[in-house]
Amino acid sequence: MNRLIIILFLIFAFGFQEKTDYKAAREKMVNNQIKARGIQNRLTLAAMQTVPRHKFVPEKLLSSAYFDSPLPIGYGQTISQPYIVAFMTETIKPKKDFKVLEIGTGSGYQAAILANIVDSVFTIEIVEALYDQAKIRLNELNYHNIFVKNADGYYGWEEKDPFDAIVVTAAAEFVPPPLIAQLKDGGKMIIPVGTPFITQQLLLIEKKEQKIKTKNLMFVRFVPFTRNKDQ
Ligand code: SAH
Repeated sequence: MNRLIIILFLIFAFGFQEKTDYKAAREKMVNNQIKARGIQNRLTLAAMQTVPRHKFVPEKLLSSAYFDSPLPIGYGQTISQPYIVAFMTETIKPKKDFKVLEIGTGSGYQAAILANIVDSVFTIEIVEALYDQAKIRLNELNYHNIFVKNADGYYGWEEKDPFDAIVVTAAAEFVPPPLIAQLKDGGKMIIPVGTPFITQQLLLIEKKEQKIKTKNLMFVRFVPFTRNKDQ
């Protein structure tokens, strides 16, 4: 009997320890990787502190979930580095009433960060298996304001436009015109543009009175924006 109590206690204590460890790892991530590099947006920092990044990485990479790097999520794709996720989120200046389009759901992590801040997130993933996984994961984590679609994001999500902001998390060779068309007047799009796997520029595109303003933000390295040949 005593032994049973000790075992139960150890299981409970271990579970508790795990939870506090992840919370502490997140706090360290926010302080050392995100605040330290200049991210200040309060809503972005709160979301990065809240979303359990370890639930978005493959089981065998659990211990690396809060590392300062992207991680493989299968099918040749990656979950972006925490700082890049925070930077992209801060750059669109997210507001509570925003409707955001994301291209490249991947693990669903960037969508979850956005969904902690904005009203709704529409996210498109071209790889069916990743779409399936992300949909299940986001549902299990109770993200009812994220809508996932399996399609080529080049065409955006016309039935739901216009969007206050568009976040593209795969590197395109040029900015897809349908995405510009689906951006609200006064809206912001952030997109890596350039040669896949080599160097790309992270661009901020702003639409105002039908005029497009483009700004280079920094050099980045994203997985390629692929095209669905059937469409
Ligand atoms: N935002 C993701 C990062 C995923 S990496 C995260 O937080 O985990 C980029 C993703 O874009 C990959 O999953 C890739 O399959 C997807 N992708 C590439 N080209 C695409 C396209 N044309 N339409 C939709 N998704 C695309």
